[in-house]
Amino acid sequence: MGRELAITGHTELIGLVATPIRHSMSPQMHNAAFDALGLDYVYLVFEVGKEELKDTVAGLKAMKVRGWNVSMPNKGDIVQYLDHVSLVSELCGAINTVVNDNGVLTGTSTDGTGFVRALSENGLDIKGKKLVLLGAGGAAAAIMAQCAIDGAKEIVVFNKKDSFYAKAQERLKLIEEKTGVEMHLYDIDDKALLKQEIDSADVLANATSVGMVPHQDSCLVEESDLHEGLYVFDCVYNPKDTLLLQRAKKVGAIPVSGVYMLLYQGAESFKLWTGKEMPIEVARKAIG
Ligand code: NAD
Repeated sequence: MGRELAITGHTELIGLVATPIRHSMSPQMHNAAFDALGLDYVYLVFEVGKEELKDTVAGLKAMKVRGWNVSMPNKGDIVQYLDHVSLVSELCGAINTVVNDNGVLTGTSTDGTGFVRALSENGLDIKGKKLVLLGAGGAAAAIMAQCAIDGAKEIVVFNKKDSFYAKAQERLKLIEEKTGVEMHLYDIDDKALLKQEIDSADVLANATSVGMVPHQDSCLVEESDLHEGLYVFDCVYNPKDTLLLQRAKKVGAIPVSGVYMLLYQGAESFKLWTGKEMPIEVARKAIG
């Protein structure tokens, strides 16, 4: 879709600072949404790594840019250049959105909000619910932090005994201390325990990269681990119909695609910058 508004002296910039980042679908999503609402902004990506981050933030601030997204490798490092950080970012240790209010920079993470909204749009309020989460990386940290803030009853995390596992122990402790939500961390190779925890869960979410192209034939749970009425969320959005979601459908579970987490995290950032609701169907069409 082409831009309807002419670029003029009034056009404002919103950016995304990360590397590698040329593959991102955020420009298509945000530019289509700006266009649909007649908002005079353009969204561009900038290949910025750790070395250039400090100067980039200073430059964006000096140019009075309204806000920007942040992705790897800058999600943690950017904290030191901001004035305020939201509770969810404090708990998950990452920033994906910065808002510039007249020179005061506030960072937050909208990935977890995207997850919670994708569930609620499918009929589930996370408050008082039990979540089993596969993975303890960046996406998982944002999800566990937001779900704890939003009043989940219990969050059970399963991960491989890799470098993420040790770091996750500290993160779970911090989230439990700050929110009072019951948190557990277990080895994902304990398949009997995994099945037992899923049996009493309301939501199962995959926040690992397992199932992503080119490994779309892999899945961390069997059909027999799932049950009717369970919400099964896959953060993986490439492919859209992952093996996990296919297994969920077969047993009468409720599949929720990571495409919606992607859209709703974008919608939350969009609202923080513009004060407007992102037109979701327009954004969805724009990302294909
Ligand atoms: P990350 O590198 O921070 O974490 C990767 C996680 O996967 C770790 O917990 C790691 O232990 C686990 N893992 C990797 N290989 C595994 C295996 N073979 N078996 C079991 N666990 C394994 O990555 P991330 O940024 O958290 O992203 C994870 C996935 O979530 C990716 O597929 C990414 O595309 C997706 N994601 C989706 C959205 C969205 O909006 N839908 C947002 C962020 C990330």
